[in-house]
Amino acid sequence: MTDIIVVGGGAAGMMAAIVAARLGRRVILLEAGSKLGRKILVSGNGRCNLTNLEGGDPRHYHGTHPRFVRPVLERFAVKDTLAFFRRLGVECREETRGRLFPLSDQARCIVAVLEDALQQAGVQIRTGARVVHLEREREAFVVRSVDGERFQAPALVVATGGCSAPQLGADTSGLDLVESLGHERTGLMPGLVPLVSPDPHVRRMQGSRVQARVSTRTGQRGETSDTGDLLFTSYGVSGPTVLYLSTYLVPLLAEGPRLLEIDFFPDKSPEQLSEQLKERWSANPHRTVERSFAGWISPRVAVPLLRSLSLPGEAVVRRMTRAQRWTLAQGLHAWPIRVTEPHSLEHAEVTIGGISTGQVDPFSLQSHLVPGLYLAGEALDVNGDWGGFNFQWAWSSGWVAGQSAAVQP
Ligand SMILES: Cc1cc2nc3c(=O)[nH]c(=O)nc-3n(C[C@H](O)[C@H](O)[C@H](O)COP(=O)(O)OP(=O)(O)OC[C@H]3O[C@@H](n4cnc5c(N)ncnc54)[C@H](O)[C@@H]3O)c2cc1C
Repeated sequence: MTDIIVVGGGAAGMMAAIVAARLGRRVILLEAGSKLGRKILVSGNGRCNLTNLEGGDPRHYHGTHPRFVRPVLERFAVKDTLAFFRRLGVECREETRGRLFPLSDQARCIVAVLEDALQQAGVQIRTGARVVHLEREREAFVVRSVDGERFQAPALVVATGGCSAPQLGADTSGLDLVESLGHERTGLMPGLVPLVSPDPHVRRMQGSRVQARVSTRTGQRGETSDTGDLLFTSYGVSGPTVLYLSTYLVPLLAEGPRLLEIDFFPDKSPEQLSEQLKERWSANPHRTVERSFAGWISPRVAVPLLRSLSLPGEAVVRRMTRAQRWTLAQGLHAWPIRVTEPHSLEHAEVTIGGISTGQVDPFSLQSHLVPGLYLAGEALDVNGDWGGFNFQWAWSSGWVAGQSAAVQP
Protein backbone atom coordinates (compact mmCIF):
# COMPACT_ATOMS: atom_id res chain seq x y z
CA MET A 1 0.00 0.00 0.00
CA THR A 2 3.01 2.32 -0.35
CA ASP A 3 3.86 4.36 -3.42
CA ILE A 4 7.28 5.59 -2.35
CA ILE A 5 9.83 4.40 0.19
CA VAL A 6 12.30 7.03 1.37
CA VAL A 7 15.39 5.63 3.07
CA GLY A 8 17.11 8.13 5.39
CA GLY A 9 15.42 10.66 7.67
CA GLY A 10 17.95 13.48 7.35
CA ALA A 11 17.49 16.81 5.59
CA ALA A 12 17.20 15.39 2.06
CA GLY A 13 15.02 12.40 2.98
CA MET A 14 12.56 14.46 5.02
CA MET A 15 12.27 17.01 2.22
CA ALA A 16 11.71 14.24 -0.39
CA ALA A 17 9.05 12.56 1.77
CA ILE A 18 7.17 15.82 2.45
CA VAL A 19 7.12 16.84 -1.22
CA ALA A 20 5.99 13.43 -2.46
CA ALA A 21 3.29 13.10 0.19
CA ARG A 22 1.99 16.60 -0.50
CA LEU A 23 1.53 15.47 -4.11
CA GLY A 24 -0.83 12.77 -2.84
CA ARG A 25 1.54 9.80 -2.74
CA ARG A 26 1.57 7.28 0.09
CA VAL A 27 5.05 7.61 1.51
CA ILE A 28 6.95 5.71 4.16
CA LEU A 29 10.14 7.14 5.62
CA LEU A 30 12.65 4.66 7.07
CA GLU A 31 15.30 6.04 9.41
CA ALA A 32 18.03 3.96 11.03
CA GLY A 33 18.41 6.15 14.10
CA SER A 34 16.02 6.70 16.97
CA LYS A 35 15.28 10.26 15.82
CA LEU A 36 15.01 12.19 12.61
CA GLY A 37 17.48 14.86 11.50
CA ARG A 38 20.36 14.06 13.82
CA LYS A 39 22.84 16.09 11.78
CA ILE A 40 20.46 19.02 11.58
CA LEU A 41 20.31 19.04 15.39
CA VAL A 42 24.07 19.47 15.75
CA SER A 43 24.55 21.70 12.73
CA GLY A 44 25.92 25.22 12.96
CA ASN A 45 26.83 24.60 16.62
CA GLY A 46 23.21 23.85 17.39
CA ARG A 47 21.95 26.86 15.41
CA CYS A 48 21.67 25.28 11.91
CA ASN A 49 23.12 27.26 9.05
CA LEU A 50 20.09 26.45 6.91
CA THR A 51 21.30 27.78 3.57
CA ASN A 52 23.35 30.52 1.97
CA LEU A 53 22.35 33.48 -0.18
CA GLU A 54 24.82 32.21 -2.78
CA GLY A 55 23.45 28.67 -2.57
CA GLY A 56 22.29 28.74 -6.21
CA ASP A 57 25.82 29.19 -7.53
CA PRO A 58 27.18 25.83 -8.75
CA ARG A 59 30.74 27.00 -8.05
CA HIS A 60 30.09 26.37 -4.37
CA TYR A 61 29.58 22.65 -4.98
CA HIS A 62 32.17 20.01 -5.79
CA GLY A 63 32.24 16.49 -7.19
CA THR A 64 33.46 14.51 -10.17
CA HIS A 65 30.85 16.15 -12.43
CA PRO A 66 30.62 19.76 -11.19
CA ARG A 67 27.83 20.69 -13.62
CA PHE A 68 25.55 18.00 -12.22
CA VAL A 69 24.16 20.29 -9.51
CA ARG A 70 22.99 23.12 -11.77
CA PRO A 71 19.54 21.80 -12.84
CA VAL A 72 18.79 20.66 -9.30
CA LEU A 73 19.66 24.05 -7.80
CA GLU A 74 17.59 25.76 -10.49
CA ARG A 75 14.50 23.65 -9.83
CA PHE A 76 14.57 24.30 -6.10
CA ALA A 77 16.53 27.47 -5.45
CA VAL A 78 17.48 29.33 -2.26
CA LYS A 79 14.34 31.45 -2.54
CA ASP A 80 12.28 28.23 -2.63
CA THR A 81 14.07 26.98 0.49
CA LEU A 82 13.27 30.24 2.27
CA ALA A 83 9.64 30.16 1.10
CA PHE A 84 9.31 26.50 2.13
CA PHE A 85 10.55 27.19 5.64
CA ARG A 86 8.67 30.47 5.95
CA ARG A 87 5.45 28.53 5.29
CA LEU A 88 6.46 26.31 8.18
CA GLY A 89 6.96 29.39 10.36
CA VAL A 90 10.75 29.71 10.16
CA GLU A 91 12.12 33.22 9.60
CA CYS A 92 15.80 33.57 8.77
CA ARG A 93 18.53 36.02 9.55
CA GLU A 94 21.63 36.68 7.46
CA GLU A 95 25.08 36.49 8.99
CA THR A 96 28.54 36.99 7.50
CA ARG A 97 29.33 35.36 4.15
CA GLY A 98 25.64 35.15 3.20
CA ARG A 99 24.90 32.45 5.77
CA LEU A 100 21.26 32.14 6.83
CA PHE A 101 20.16 30.94 10.27
CA PRO A 102 16.71 30.60 11.82
CA LEU A 103 15.85 33.69 13.85
CA SER A 104 15.32 31.49 16.90
CA ASP A 105 18.98 30.33 16.61
CA GLN A 106 17.79 26.80 17.28
CA ALA A 107 18.55 23.86 15.04
CA ARG A 108 15.93 21.82 16.86
CA CYS A 109 13.18 24.12 15.57
CA ILE A 110 14.10 23.05 12.04
CA VAL A 111 13.66 19.38 12.90
CA ALA A 112 10.44 20.17 14.77
CA VAL A 113 8.82 21.97 11.81
CA LEU A 114 9.94 19.25 9.40
CA GLU A 115 8.44 16.57 11.66
CA ASP A 116 5.25 18.58 11.77
CA ALA A 117 5.22 18.88 7.96
CA LEU A 118 5.80 15.12 7.61
CA GLN A 119 2.83 14.42 9.86
CA GLN A 120 0.61 16.97 8.15
CA ALA A 121 1.42 15.45 4.77
CA GLY A 122 0.58 11.97 6.08
CA VAL A 123 4.04 10.41 5.80
CA GLN A 124 4.43 7.17 7.77
CA ILE A 125 7.60 7.43 9.81
CA ARG A 126 9.62 4.48 11.07
CA THR A 127 12.61 5.26 13.21
CA GLY A 128 15.02 2.52 14.31
CA ALA A 129 14.48 1.02 10.84
CA ARG A 130 17.97 0.53 9.41
CA VAL A 131 17.62 -0.81 5.89
CA VAL A 132 19.90 -3.79 5.41
CA HIS A 133 18.67 -5.25 2.16
CA LEU A 134 17.42 -3.79 -1.08
CA GLU A 135 16.37 -5.48 -4.29
CA ARG A 136 14.18 -4.94 -7.28
CA GLU A 137 11.51 -7.57 -7.87
CA ARG A 138 9.67 -7.10 -11.16
CA GLU A 139 8.10 -3.60 -10.94
CA ALA A 140 8.76 -2.97 -7.26
CA PHE A 141 11.54 -2.39 -4.80
CA VAL A 142 11.69 -4.70 -1.85
CA VAL A 143 13.37 -3.26 1.20
CA ARG A 144 14.17 -5.08 4.44
CA SER A 145 14.95 -3.41 7.70
CA VAL A 146 17.28 -4.73 10.38
CA ASP A 147 14.42 -6.21 12.40
CA GLY A 148 13.22 -8.21 9.40
CA GLU A 149 10.31 -5.98 8.40
CA ARG A 150 9.66 -5.92 4.65
CA PHE A 151 8.49 -2.91 2.65
CA GLN A 152 7.54 -2.73 -0.99
CA ALA A 153 6.91 0.15 -3.39
CA PRO A 154 7.37 1.02 -7.07
CA ALA A 155 9.56 4.03 -6.25
CA LEU A 156 12.47 4.39 -3.87
CA VAL A 157 14.37 7.47 -2.75
CA VAL A 158 17.75 6.81 -1.14
CA ALA A 159 18.91 9.74 1.02
CA THR A 160 21.20 8.02 3.46
CA GLY A 161 23.80 10.78 3.65
CA GLY A 162 27.57 10.52 3.84
CA CYS A 163 29.79 8.82 6.38
CA SER A 164 31.12 11.88 8.24
CA ALA A 165 30.28 12.10 11.95
CA PRO A 166 29.98 8.33 12.59
CA GLN A 167 29.33 9.22 16.27
CA LEU A 168 25.88 10.29 15.01
CA GLY A 169 25.33 6.90 13.39
CA ALA A 170 26.57 7.79 9.90
CA ASP A 171 28.08 4.94 7.92
CA THR A 172 28.33 3.65 4.36
CA SER A 173 25.38 1.24 4.64
CA GLY A 174 23.21 3.35 2.33
CA LEU A 175 25.95 3.61 -0.29
CA ASP A 176 26.48 -0.17 -0.06
CA LEU A 177 22.77 -0.71 -0.75
CA VAL A 178 22.86 1.48 -3.86
CA GLU A 179 26.04 -0.26 -5.01
CA SER A 180 24.23 -3.60 -4.67
CA LEU A 181 21.85 -2.34 -7.38
CA GLY A 182 24.76 -1.80 -9.78
CA HIS A 183 25.74 1.80 -9.05
CA GLU A 184 29.34 2.87 -8.65
CA ARG A 185 30.72 5.11 -5.98
CA THR A 186 33.83 7.25 -5.81
CA GLY A 187 36.45 7.11 -3.07
CA LEU A 188 35.28 8.68 0.19
CA MET A 189 37.21 11.30 2.19
CA PRO A 190 36.43 13.60 5.09
CA GLY A 191 35.37 17.08 3.94
CA LEU A 192 34.98 20.42 5.75
CA VAL A 193 37.45 19.07 8.23
CA PRO A 194 40.29 20.45 10.40
CA LEU A 195 43.81 19.67 9.21
CA VAL A 196 46.63 17.99 11.09
CA SER A 197 49.96 19.80 11.31
CA PRO A 198 53.06 18.20 12.80
CA ASP A 199 54.77 21.63 13.19
CA PRO A 200 55.60 22.08 16.89
CA HIS A 201 55.17 25.87 16.66
CA VAL A 202 51.60 25.43 15.43
CA ARG A 203 50.78 23.13 18.31
CA ARG A 204 52.28 25.60 20.78
CA MET A 205 49.69 28.10 19.59
CA GLN A 206 46.84 25.76 20.59
CA GLY A 207 43.76 27.45 21.95
CA SER A 208 44.41 30.68 20.00
CA ARG A 209 41.99 32.17 17.50
CA VAL A 210 43.12 34.80 15.01
CA GLN A 211 41.64 36.62 12.04
CA ALA A 212 43.88 35.75 9.12
CA ARG A 213 44.11 35.11 5.44
CA VAL A 214 45.02 31.47 4.85
CA SER A 215 46.21 30.46 1.40
CA THR A 216 47.59 27.39 -0.30
CA ARG A 217 48.63 26.26 -3.74
CA THR A 218 46.05 23.87 -5.17
CA GLY A 219 47.48 22.50 -8.40
CA GLN A 220 45.75 23.80 -11.51
CA ARG A 221 43.63 26.25 -9.55
CA GLY A 222 46.77 28.17 -8.64
CA GLU A 223 46.29 29.70 -5.23
CA THR A 224 43.17 29.22 -3.12
CA SER A 225 42.64 31.37 -0.07
CA ASP A 226 40.13 32.36 2.55
CA THR A 227 40.04 35.14 5.12
CA GLY A 228 38.40 34.84 8.52
CA ASP A 229 38.69 32.89 11.74
CA LEU A 230 41.65 30.56 12.10
CA LEU A 231 41.99 28.33 15.15
CA PHE A 232 45.13 26.64 16.42
CA THR A 233 44.45 23.32 18.11
CA SER A 234 46.37 20.52 19.81
CA TYR A 235 46.61 18.62 16.51
CA GLY A 236 46.83 21.44 13.94
CA VAL A 237 44.47 24.04 12.52
CA SER A 238 40.71 24.50 12.29
CA GLY A 239 38.07 27.20 11.90
CA PRO A 240 36.04 28.34 8.88
CA THR A 241 39.11 29.29 6.80
CA VAL A 242 40.63 25.84 7.18
CA LEU A 243 37.32 24.01 6.67
CA TYR A 244 36.83 25.96 3.45
CA LEU A 245 40.34 25.14 2.17
CA SER A 246 40.01 21.49 3.22
CA THR A 247 37.66 20.87 0.28
CA TYR A 248 40.55 21.54 -2.09
CA LEU A 249 43.39 20.26 0.08
CA VAL A 250 42.13 16.90 1.36
CA PRO A 251 42.28 15.18 -2.05
CA LEU A 252 45.79 16.63 -2.58
CA LEU A 253 47.01 15.51 0.85
CA ALA A 254 46.69 11.92 -0.33
CA GLU A 255 49.83 12.65 -2.39
CA GLY A 256 51.83 14.17 0.46
CA PRO A 257 52.08 17.14 2.85
CA ARG A 258 51.15 20.65 1.68
CA LEU A 259 51.97 24.15 2.85
CA LEU A 260 49.48 26.70 4.16
CA GLU A 261 50.52 30.33 4.30
CA ILE A 262 49.08 32.42 7.08
CA ASP A 263 48.81 36.18 6.72
CA PHE A 264 48.08 37.58 10.17
CA PHE A 265 47.43 41.06 8.73
CA PRO A 266 45.72 40.61 5.36
CA ASP A 267 45.20 44.36 4.93
CA LYS A 268 48.90 45.20 5.23
CA SER A 269 51.94 44.62 3.04
CA PRO A 270 55.22 43.37 4.59
CA GLU A 271 56.59 46.90 4.10
CA GLN A 272 53.70 48.39 6.09
CA LEU A 273 54.15 45.77 8.80
CA SER A 274 57.86 46.53 9.02
CA GLU A 275 57.02 50.23 9.43
CA GLN A 276 54.46 49.41 12.12
CA LEU A 277 57.03 47.31 14.00
CA LYS A 278 59.49 50.17 13.75
CA GLU A 279 56.96 52.58 15.25
CA ARG A 280 56.01 50.21 18.06
CA TRP A 281 59.62 49.49 18.87
CA SER A 282 60.66 53.15 18.94
CA ALA A 283 57.68 53.99 21.19
CA ASN A 284 58.87 51.40 23.75
CA PRO A 285 62.53 50.68 23.02
CA HIS A 286 63.10 49.10 26.45
CA ARG A 287 60.71 46.20 25.85
CA THR A 288 61.66 42.69 24.77
CA VAL A 289 60.51 41.60 21.34
CA GLU A 290 57.97 39.24 22.92
CA ARG A 291 56.57 41.98 25.12
CA SER A 292 56.49 44.44 22.23
CA PHE A 293 53.49 42.52 20.89
CA ALA A 294 51.40 43.32 23.99
CA GLY A 295 47.97 44.61 22.98
CA TRP A 296 48.57 43.70 19.36
CA ILE A 297 49.09 39.95 19.02
CA SER A 298 48.50 37.41 21.77
CA PRO A 299 51.75 36.08 23.31
CA ARG A 300 50.39 32.58 22.67
CA VAL A 301 50.80 33.28 18.97
CA ALA A 302 53.72 35.73 19.06
CA VAL A 303 56.13 33.60 21.11
CA PRO A 304 55.97 30.42 18.95
CA LEU A 305 55.97 32.58 15.81
CA LEU A 306 59.21 34.31 16.87
CA ARG A 307 60.75 30.97 17.70
CA SER A 308 59.78 29.48 14.35
CA LEU A 309 61.46 32.45 12.62
CA SER A 310 64.60 31.94 14.76
CA LEU A 311 64.23 35.45 16.20
CA PRO A 312 65.31 36.19 19.79
CA GLY A 313 62.03 36.87 21.62
CA GLU A 314 63.83 37.88 24.81
CA ALA A 315 66.11 40.43 23.14
CA VAL A 316 65.41 44.10 23.78
CA VAL A 317 63.85 45.62 20.69
CA ARG A 318 66.43 48.38 20.27
CA ARG A 319 69.01 45.67 19.64
CA MET A 320 67.06 44.19 16.75
CA THR A 321 68.56 44.68 13.32
CA ARG A 322 66.69 45.95 10.29
CA ALA A 323 67.08 42.46 8.69
CA GLN A 324 65.49 40.83 11.75
CA ARG A 325 62.61 43.30 11.61
CA TRP A 326 62.09 42.47 7.95
CA THR A 327 62.13 38.70 8.71
CA LEU A 328 59.43 39.28 11.30
CA ALA A 329 57.34 41.46 8.97
CA GLN A 330 57.50 38.75 6.33
CA GLY A 331 56.65 36.07 8.88
CA LEU A 332 53.55 38.00 9.91
CA HIS A 333 52.58 38.37 6.27
CA ALA A 334 53.21 34.82 5.02
CA TRP A 335 53.94 32.31 7.73
CA PRO A 336 54.27 28.83 6.18
CA ILE A 337 52.99 25.81 8.06
CA ARG A 338 52.88 22.19 6.98
CA VAL A 339 49.69 20.14 6.96
CA THR A 340 49.84 16.41 6.45
CA GLU A 341 46.35 14.92 6.65
CA PRO A 342 42.70 15.67 7.39
CA HIS A 343 41.46 15.15 10.91
CA SER A 344 39.20 12.09 11.35
CA LEU A 345 35.68 11.56 9.97
CA GLU A 346 34.39 12.26 13.50
CA HIS A 347 35.46 15.88 12.98
CA ALA A 348 34.32 16.22 9.37
CA GLU A 349 31.09 18.00 8.47
CA VAL A 350 30.68 16.24 5.13
CA THR A 351 31.96 13.42 2.98
CA ILE A 352 33.84 14.13 -0.22
CA GLY A 353 32.62 11.55 -2.75
CA GLY A 354 29.59 9.29 -2.89
CA ILE A 355 27.39 7.63 -5.51
CA SER A 356 28.75 8.55 -8.95
CA THR A 357 26.64 11.28 -10.48
CA GLY A 358 27.46 10.04 -14.00
CA GLN A 359 24.83 7.30 -13.52
CA VAL A 360 22.07 9.65 -12.31
CA ASP A 361 19.85 12.01 -14.33
CA PRO A 362 20.52 15.56 -13.09
CA PHE A 363 17.02 16.76 -13.97
CA SER A 364 15.03 14.14 -12.04
CA LEU A 365 17.72 12.50 -9.87
CA GLN A 366 16.48 9.16 -11.15
CA SER A 367 19.03 6.42 -11.63
CA HIS A 368 20.02 5.76 -15.25
CA LEU A 369 20.50 2.11 -14.29
CA VAL A 370 17.49 1.27 -12.13
CA PRO A 371 14.19 2.90 -13.13
CA GLY A 372 12.23 4.09 -10.10
CA LEU A 373 15.34 4.62 -7.95
CA TYR A 374 16.04 8.25 -6.96
CA LEU A 375 19.03 9.62 -5.06
CA ALA A 376 19.33 12.75 -2.95
CA GLY A 377 21.60 14.61 -0.57
CA GLU A 378 25.08 13.83 0.53
CA ALA A 379 24.81 10.19 -0.56
CA LEU A 380 25.60 11.52 -4.03
CA ASP A 381 29.10 12.58 -5.06
CA VAL A 382 28.38 16.26 -4.28
CA ASN A 383 29.86 18.28 -1.43
CA GLY A 384 29.31 21.96 -0.82
CA ASP A 385 31.43 24.72 0.62
CA TRP A 386 31.29 25.66 4.27
CA GLY A 387 28.46 28.08 5.07
CA GLY A 388 25.06 26.42 4.50
CA PHE A 389 25.69 25.02 1.01
CA ASN A 390 25.41 21.40 2.09
CA PHE A 391 21.93 21.90 3.47
CA GLN A 392 20.93 23.79 0.33
CA TRP A 393 22.06 20.76 -1.66
CA ALA A 394 20.05 18.49 0.66
CA TRP A 395 16.88 20.63 0.37
CA SER A 396 17.18 21.06 -3.43
CA SER A 397 18.04 17.45 -4.22
CA GLY A 398 15.47 16.15 -1.71
CA TRP A 399 12.80 18.27 -3.33
CA VAL A 400 13.73 17.18 -6.88
CA ALA A 401 13.95 13.48 -5.96
CA GLY A 402 10.65 13.54 -4.03
CA GLN A 403 8.85 15.46 -6.75
CA SER A 404 10.21 13.23 -9.54
CA ALA A 405 9.34 10.05 -7.64
CA ALA A 406 5.81 11.34 -7.04
CA VAL A 407 5.08 12.14 -10.67
CA GLN A 408 6.73 9.07 -12.21
CA PRO A 409 4.25 7.17 -14.38
C1 LIG B 1 28.70 18.66 13.05
C2 LIG B 1 28.08 19.02 11.73
C3 LIG B 1 27.65 20.32 11.51
C4 LIG B 1 27.10 20.68 10.27
N1 LIG B 1 26.65 21.95 10.09
C5 LIG B 1 26.12 22.30 8.89
C6 LIG B 1 25.57 23.59 8.69
O1 LIG B 1 25.45 24.40 9.62
N2 LIG B 1 25.12 23.90 7.44
C7 LIG B 1 25.17 23.01 6.39
O2 LIG B 1 24.76 23.34 5.28
N3 LIG B 1 25.62 21.75 6.57
C8 LIG B 1 26.08 21.38 7.80
N4 LIG B 1 26.52 20.10 7.98
C9 LIG B 1 26.41 19.14 6.87
C10 LIG B 1 24.95 18.65 6.78
O3 LIG B 1 24.53 18.24 8.05
C11 LIG B 1 24.81 17.50 5.78
O4 LIG B 1 25.39 17.83 4.55
C12 LIG B 1 23.35 17.14 5.59
O5 LIG B 1 22.79 16.73 6.82
C13 LIG B 1 23.18 16.03 4.56
O6 LIG B 1 21.82 15.68 4.53
P1 LIG B 1 21.39 14.23 4.05
O7 LIG B 1 19.92 14.14 4.28
O8 LIG B 1 21.92 13.95 2.70
O9 LIG B 1 22.16 13.24 5.03
P2 LIG B 1 22.01 13.04 6.67
O10 LIG B 1 21.57 14.29 7.24
O11 LIG B 1 23.28 12.45 7.02
O12 LIG B 1 20.82 12.02 6.75
C14 LIG B 1 20.93 10.70 6.33
C15 LIG B 1 20.06 9.86 7.22
O13 LIG B 1 20.00 8.52 6.67
C16 LIG B 1 20.02 7.61 7.76
N5 LIG B 1 20.53 6.33 7.24
C17 LIG B 1 21.79 6.05 6.83
N6 LIG B 1 21.87 4.76 6.43
C18 LIG B 1 20.62 4.23 6.59
C19 LIG B 1 20.07 2.95 6.35
N7 LIG B 1 20.81 1.94 5.88
N8 LIG B 1 18.75 2.75 6.64
C20 LIG B 1 17.98 3.76 7.12
N9 LIG B 1 18.47 5.01 7.37
C21 LIG B 1 19.76 5.23 7.10
C22 LIG B 1 20.96 8.26 8.76
O14 LIG B 1 20.72 7.75 10.07
C23 LIG B 1 20.60 9.72 8.62
O15 LIG B 1 19.60 10.12 9.53
C24 LIG B 1 27.02 19.71 9.22
C25 LIG B 1 27.44 18.40 9.47
C26 LIG B 1 27.96 18.04 10.70
C27 LIG B 1 28.39 16.62 10.94
